[in-house]
Amino acid sequence: MARITLVQGDITAQEVDAVVNAANSSLLGGGGVDGAIHRRGGPEILAACEDLRRSHYGKGLPTGRAVATTAGRLPAGHVIHTVGPVYQVSGSDPWLLASCYRESLRVADELGARTVAFPAISTGAYGWPMEDAARIAVEAVLGAETNVEEVRFVLYDESAYQAFAEQIGLSEAE
Ligand code: ADP
Repeated sequence: MARITLVQGDITAQEVDAVVNAANSSLLGGGGVDGAIHRRGGPEILAACEDLRRSHYGKGLPTGRAVATTAGRLPAGHVIHTVGPVYQVSGSDPWLLASCYRESLRVADELGARTVAFPAISTGAYGWPMEDAARIAVEAVLGAETNVEEVRFVLYDESAYQAFAEQIGLSEAE
């Protein structure tokens, strides 16, 4: 089982084997984490995403799935792109959000990655409430069978960090 660590900061600065991108299904860039990764990682990442669209994902990457590319100029080994679900007040599927973490770890295993950094998927533009997203993320990682040794959640602000810290505390207390 992977050890979970938390840092408050910028996912693009992480020196890890793989960083996870909160992408959208087009794989062609967006705002938030996605924009930051493409800006700092440079055009090589977008070129790899365009290749994936042409080869395997003509209709885009489905929600809950994950796929790896080069990390370009990032200080990481690879980028794993995953598409979180958009939160809907009428009912959203937590399974799909958990799937992003599980599938990303499965891809990380295929890459032989031992250290993987995740953002809080779906909690930005996609609107998932942070406390609930943190619970789903921590449970999914703790439940995953993986050879990854460190899962590092990289939280952009203090409140996101606190939400994840609370979940880790709760899972340790059990
Ligand atoms: P989504 O579309 O899946 O909601 P976003 O990228 O909009 O993804 O946001 C996901 C989370 O990542 C949000 O909590 C946002 O505050 C945070 N975030 C934005 N930029 C960064 C960054 N450079 N590093 C880490 N987290 C970030």
